[in-house]
Amino acid sequence: MSTFQAPKGTYDLLPPDSATYLAVREAIAGPLKNSGYGYIETPGFENVELFARGVGESTDIVTKEMYAFETKGGDRLALRPEGTASVLRAALEANLHKGGNLPVKLWYSGSYYRYERPQKGRYRHFSQVGAEAIGAEDPALDAELIILADQAYRSLGLRNFRILLNSLGDQECRPVYRAALQDFLRGLDLDDDTRRRVDINPLRVLDDKREYVQKQLTGAPMLRDYLCEACKAYHEQVRELLTAAGVAFEDDEKLVRGLDYYTRTTFEFVHDGLGSQSAVGGGGRYDGLSEMIGGPALPSVGWALGVDRTVLALEAEGIALDIPAATSVYAVPLGDEARRVLFGAVTELRRAGVATDFAYGGKGLKNAMKSANRSGARLALVAGERDLAEGVVQLKDLTSGEQTPVALDAVVDEVRRALG
Ligand code: ATP
Ligand code: MG
Repeated sequence: MSTFQAPKGTYDLLPPDSATYLAVREAIAGPLKNSGYGYIETPGFENVELFARGVGESTDIVTKEMYAFETKGGDRLALRPEGTASVLRAALEANLHKGGNLPVKLWYSGSYYRYERPQKGRYRHFSQVGAEAIGAEDPALDAELIILADQAYRSLGLRNFRILLNSLGDQECRPVYRAALQDFLRGLDLDDDTRRRVDINPLRVLDDKREYVQKQLTGAPMLRDYLCEACKAYHEQVRELLTAAGVAFEDDEKLVRGLDYYTRTTFEFVHDGLGSQSAVGGGGRYDGLSEMIGGPALPSVGWALGVDRTVLALEAEGIALDIPAATSVYAVPLGDEARRVLFGAVTELRRAGVATDFAYGGKGLKNAMKSANRSGARLALVAGERDLAEGVVQLKDLTSGEQTPVALDAVVDEVRRALG
């Protein structure tokens, strides 16, 4: 061990487990790449104001969880706590919305940072894969995103997740509801913090997990009863499209989610094997966000799925992904001349696209064969002086133990044939 450890609330991804993380990222990205979403990458930090405005001054993310700092040059920056605000900022800055080709569909994958109380499934550094469809108001787009996330999770073999769905209304009906909810909440017996929340972000109170709050919420006005006709019709279409696609969901009127910018469709993917960190991903429509960060009106919808929690969900369901061994062939030289010759064969195999590794460090045969077996390789190439004198190397099937000499100049072909 060195003097240093990973910072509190973080962990390192190490082989072989790291392969699962890569596979999860790929599984989530796959359906997006296949559906017109282009890859976007933005910086790990942004002007702190982007998040203050774009995520919302009243959210936990901005008030408690953000890593904000001042640079030597005096800029106020923050490590990104989420992806949507950055992606929209980048799309606006590059005028992607101006080509007349809306929606702009983008996907991303990367690290996010939140100063949270670390626990299983809740870290200070975590990864998300996300998708945003910018500049179109169309229930089919909301449905598309939910269907693609569902497809990604199913492709991983996950079954015990549920999709919670709600509508948060729009600029017309939400304010009316907000006021009614505030009236109701102000009549309750709440602590000071929660009272402040009633003033700034009353919908979040519905999301409060504490029992003494939940108990008092019976009889609270529900947004469903306040949705305007347009929002109702929109939501009904999203529901119908999901049903037609065979994607099961649950209506959850209390689902409000943490971010201020959501309008209309809101959803969360929860997994029942994860304890209190049950949300594996979430998203929704954010029709007002572009204007909040100084852009034109661009109704949009998106989601972000947490890679860390998706990996935990796989563990909870006992799913081991079928990840092909990184190495197919392992070369074991016996002696200096064999090292030179086999190293050449390894390079040739790699150039031919065969995943190959080599026993470095002058290991003895026994140790080298142990490494070969540990690498997961199906074949070993073994050569000593006598083999070289005959112009051959031994091709050993590590499963059956069977060994056949192959001509040195035919190694690539013979290996390919043996691998099938
Ligand atoms: P929670 O309610 O659990 O705090 P959230 O609403 O803050 O989640 P989002 O902002 O919607 O989460 O982020 C989308 C996904 O990113 C989450 O569903 C989760 O999988 C993941 N995520 C968010 N925060 C963390 C974290 N601190 N550690 C690990 N994963 C996280
Ligand atoms: Mg959170």
